Amino acid sequence: MKSLGSIRRSFAPWADPTAKPYISFQNVTKRFGDFTAVDNLSLNIYQREFFALLGASGCGKSTLLRMLAGFEDPTSGDIILDGQSIKGIPPYRRPVNMMFQSYALFPHMSVEKNIAFGLKQDGMPKTEIAERVAQMLKLVKLEKFAARKPHQLSGGQRQRVALARSIAKRPKVLLLDEPLGALDKKLREETQFELMDLQQDLGLTFVVVTHDQEEAMTMADRIAVMSAGKVIQVATPAEIYEAPNSRFVADFIGDVNIFEGKVKAATGTTLEVAAKSGFTVDVATPETQPVGADAAIAVRPEKLRVSSQAPANTTVNAVEGEIWDIAYLGDMTVFHVRLSDGKVVKASMLNAAREMDDPLAYEQKVWVSFAANAGVVLKG
Ligand code: ATP
Repeated sequence: MKSLGSIRRSFAPWADPTAKPYISFQNVTKRFGDFTAVDNLSLNIYQREFFALLGASGCGKSTLLRMLAGFEDPTSGDIILDGQSIKGIPPYRRPVNMMFQSYALFPHMSVEKNIAFGLKQDGMPKTEIAERVAQMLKLVKLEKFAARKPHQLSGGQRQRVALARSIAKRPKVLLLDEPLGALDKKLREETQFELMDLQQDLGLTFVVVTHDQEEAMTMADRIAVMSAGKVIQVATPAEIYEAPNSRFVADFIGDVNIFEGKVKAATGTTLEVAAKSGFTVDVATPETQPVGADAAIAVRPEKLRVSSQAPANTTVNAVEGEIWDIAYLGDMTVFHVRLSDGKVVKASMLNAAREMDDPLAYEQKVWVSFAANAGVVLKG
């Protein structure tokens, strides 16, 4: 059997120019009165993709999902599903099902009846319903809980019932609005992997809305980072993290240090920037920018090295500072280092050994350094 990882690694229809998108938002705008919730947005999602819409509260992600489900109509633009416009098609006639933030299970019905509800409404024959419900219970590992009522279940189990109910009708697309919002951290993490397995096993297309970046990074094939009704970047989790296309995305996903400065030189392989913090930053990049132009370089905390000894080369990507704060997090330690201009940078180091060879203390003078391929030039 192939592992989920190996299947996922080879899955990249968005990189294939001949692949046809399954869902296509085409210049979609949604206005509520004079407020624009979704702003001329275009986006393609492919069959079997696990796609995440990520953004702060109010950025328009739920509105986008609701338009796909048919609960809202776009003010302008079109939504294409499997080659056809779904404009005007009512929610119940779309091959799309939505799992809501609150699971909305029927409290007086057993687990089994909750899962069977939609099938019954569709007039599916009884024997087929029983078969399908049994299959769903097995899938979400709740066979033993079939006769229980929702209040006799844990939050995680209730979440799985809701999931079983929303996929019982075999929708081609499942929309999930903050599906794990009600679960505690540990259960959330477990359920993320269950969701990924389920999506893979059933070959469905999942579109999930979340404001939790870790969740999106874990589960999704691709992430769309949204702000104020627009998509700022669509890319794989690794690309979003390692090559954010803007200051907004770099800041939004994970921790980041941004060094501002002016371009000193651009060779076509390296961009050299005189950082305001009083040192030279070298970034390995084919991008060129005019000498003297403003530049901003992002470097993730885990790519910074903090040491009491000066690095071999102190002329570039190395700056002196003072330990300002130390946060011991168990698996790693985060150092806040104050540079001479007052800027505080964050550096995280794994605690791989039980004892550090070179323990660092508050107020100690240190060197912060990083490699030329650690930095990313930010645009916009
Ligand atoms: P959250 O994570 O808080 O759910 P979101 O990104 O999903 O946020 P949306 O629910 O899509 O945000 O809302 C986007 C914007 O549109 C918000 O400012 C919201 O107040 C507004 N909005 C949504 N629905 C309506 C409505 N029916 N009438 C007026 N304004 C609305």
